[in-house]
Order: sequence, then structure tokens, then C-alpha cells
Amino acid sequence: MRDAAEPDSGLAARLARVRSDIADAARSAGRTPDDLTLIVVTKFHPASLVRDLALLGVHDVGENRHQEAQRKAAELADLQLTWHFIGQLQTNKARQVRRYADVVQSIDREALVDALAGPVPDAPAHIGGFVEVNLTDDPDRGGVAPERVEALVERILQTETVQLRGVMGVAPLGADPRPAFASLRAVSERVQSIAPWATAISAGMSGDFREAIAEGATHLRIGTAITGNRPSAI
Ligand SMILES: *Cc1c(COP(=O)(O)O)cnc(C)c1O
Repeated sequence: MRDAAEPDSGLAARLARVRSDIADAARSAGRTPDDLTLIVVTKFHPASLVRDLALLGVHDVGENRHQEAQRKAAELADLQLTWHFIGQLQTNKARQVRRYADVVQSIDREALVDALAGPVPDAPAHIGGFVEVNLTDDPDRGGVAPERVEALVERILQTETVQLRGVMGVAPLGADPRPAFASLRAVSERVQSIAPWATAISAGMSGDFREAIAEGATHLRIGTAITGNRPSAI
């Protein structure tokens, strides 16, 4: 058994590599790497991997399934981590997510805002929120249609609980991600005309974070490039 205080060196090497690639991409875009928040997506991986990441200086982690996230957050309650919920969220799970998540990045409908906004005993008074924007023509992909973003933002602004941070998007599969990220940036500008503080743009995954950085991403959600391939079940 390896020493629990010594994270697997493959993980450390992949994390270092991604951090340096992010810094390079930021500099090529004329941006400073300090303006970028790396969220390591740890879905399907055990809590022990999240603990290893924390030992390597990771502060932000992303999860997309409620029960798995809830279990890991409870197991790792001793760590100072920021938990980002990034997956489809059922309205009836929203109140439970309030208890462990610091941020929900996948706000895609008014009913979810209302579910997140209600009083939840033992939960923090506030939760950060990103509006997830559908960057594809397929309404079945996650996110609100770009033309419906303003209405959703207004609904969030009516709550005291959900604190709007910005927008989130996933580039379409099998197409150049750059135009999709450019349209996310345009949506972000519209959001900022209503909520000037909501400047965050969560975009970019393992395969496309360089393009996202070039189009102004502030938050990167990177999984496999750091964690290695996801196990199918834990
Ligand atoms: C899984 C996931 C990621 C990370 O994807 P990788 O390709 O493993 O980097 C990012 N964002 C969302 C919404 C995800 O579900």
C-alpha cells in the first residue's frame, strides 16, 4: 500500500502538465494564468483521488451526479474544497445539493432556480450559480437556449440565495470548439449588461481548454487529462 500522504506520481505529473499548458495558453492569449480557476472534474473517481488532488494543491473539484458528490463531500469534509456541481440536476435534488455544493454550474431552467432558492435547514445561506448555455442546435443537450438566458438570469437575481457568477457551456462534439466558445463569450457580455459582477465564464475541458482560454474562459473544468480515464463505476 502506498503512503496515503504521497499522491500517485502519475496524477502529480498530469496535473503539473495541465497547469503548465494552461499557463502557456493564457500567455499566448495575452492573459495572466492567475485569472483562471482550474476545476478538476473527479466524477466516477473515488474520494481517495480527490484527497490526493487536494494534497497537490487543488482547491476546486467538479462532480456531475448528486449521490456520488454527496458521498464524497461527506467523506472529505475535513478538506477545504470548493465543490462545483456541473451535471444535470433534478429539481427534487436541488435542496440536498445546497448542503454540500458551493456552486451549481448547471442552472438551466427557472424551476431549478426556485428549488435552489428555498430555505434549507443546515445549508449555507448562499450558493454560487452559473447559467448553463446550450451551445448546440440540439435542445436535448444540457443548458438553456441562448435567447432564453436573460429570463433565467432575471429569475436568479430575484433570489437572495443563488449568487450569480456567470455562464457555463460545453462545446458541441465533433466540431471546432472555438466558435461555440465565442458565442458563449457573447452571451456572457449580455449577462454582464444585466449583472455586471457576473463575469465568470466556465468553458473548456480536457480536449478544448486552450480554445476556451483564447475566448475568455475564467473557469476550466478538466477531468481525464488530469485524472486519467474514468472508471465506469466506483
Ligand atoms: C465530465 C465533464 C467535464 C470534464 O471532461 P473531460 O473531458 O474529462 O475533461 C467537464 N464538464 C462537464 C459538464 C462534464 O460533465
